[in-house]
Amino acid sequence: MRYRNLIPKPRSAFLLVKCKSCGNEQIVYSHTTIDIRCNVCGNLLAEHTGGKAKIYGKIVRRLD
Ligand SMILES: [Zn+2]
Repeated sequence: MRYRNLIPKPRSAFLLVKCKSCGNEQIVYSHTTIDIRCNVCGNLLAEHTGGKAKIYGKIVRRLD
């Protein structure tokens, strides 16, 4: 068993990100492995990079 995989990386976090286009607030994982789009308008909120995601919206706060 590799419990290590279940523990988030120290610097990863869930972020509440506000869409710059429509103001929708959405939870985004800081190390997402997929691109995250706004549920309301489809604007790109986070782009996966293989490491820490590039966040395009406004980070309202961390949820950790
Ligand atoms: Zn939006």
